[in-house]
Amino acid sequence: MTNPVAIVTGGSRGIGAACCRMLAARGYDVAFSYTANDAAAATVSAEIEAAGVQALAIKADMATEDGVLALFTAADGRFGRLDQVVINAGITGRIKRVVDMSVEDIQAVMNLNIVGAMLCARESVKRMSSKSGGKGGNIVIVSSAAAWLGSPNEFVHYAASKGATNSLTIGLAKEVAQEGIRVNAVAPGLIDTDIHATAGAPDRVERLQSMVPMGRGGTAEEVAEAILWLLSNDSRYTTGVILPVSGGR
Ligand code: NAP
Repeated sequence: MTNPVAIVTGGSRGIGAACCRMLAARGYDVAFSYTANDAAAATVSAEIEAAGVQALAIKADMATEDGVLALFTAADGRFGRLDQVVINAGITGRIKRVVDMSVEDIQAVMNLNIVGAMLCARESVKRMSSKSGGKGGNIVIVSSAAAWLGSPNEFVHYAASKGATNSLTIGLAKEVAQEGIRVNAVAPGLIDTDIHATAGAPDRVERLQSMVPMGRGGTAEEVAEAILWLLSNDSRYTTGVILPVSGGR
């Protein structure tokens, strides 16, 4: 008996790391990608292994096809099966108004958040689809409440990329619904991770939390719990949904 296997993109920190820890606690071997923070990746690997399952950390850029293929191929080689995929790696870009954005600013966000996400979805379907001999599985894409808030004066390019992610979720879910694959998304609101400091606003959660109906930012674990539900058999009749995890925002 081999353990079930999960892939998490962007698993070294934040929401992805919380997913890795929770999947490990539920008996999954976990392969995850990251790009820069070797120390954070080593910590998550150790946490996964402490749960008695295998960890595979792959330093690979999910904004490129080569990076996506490196992750999925490495997971094939180590585990030989694939059950769950969390397409999580994402960036906001630096806070700017649209009028000040360069083509490079826009492309960096789109390349990771939508082109890379779509390539990860493609590689997942290739392996899981009953049409190609796969055993089925689940895909959860990490979108954002920004898709409907629009993020004016902060990162409209990011909001637009997450709108595209929602369309990917809806369309792909319908495309593979009879191939044993469910495709869903979560749309987190204001979650306390490093992403805000990377965008140039380390105090963003504290500053904006009074605008959240529940009056506080969320945690990476609170988002991961929703993702794990969508990956579980408990949500077996749910596909193509975008589940807000946003404290009512
Ligand atoms: P985070 O704390 O900044 O962590 C990002 C993770 O992704 C890190 O593990 C990072 O690796 C990895 N990563 C970044 N670029 C990558 C790339 N090109 N290829 C592979 N891995 C990459 O972010 P987070 O807040 O957890 O966000 C995770 C997802 O949730 C994103 O899609 C984001 O848009 C979405 N989200 C977040 C919030 C929020 O408020 N935090 C709200 C809505 C949606 P390194 O450690 O190597 O840098």
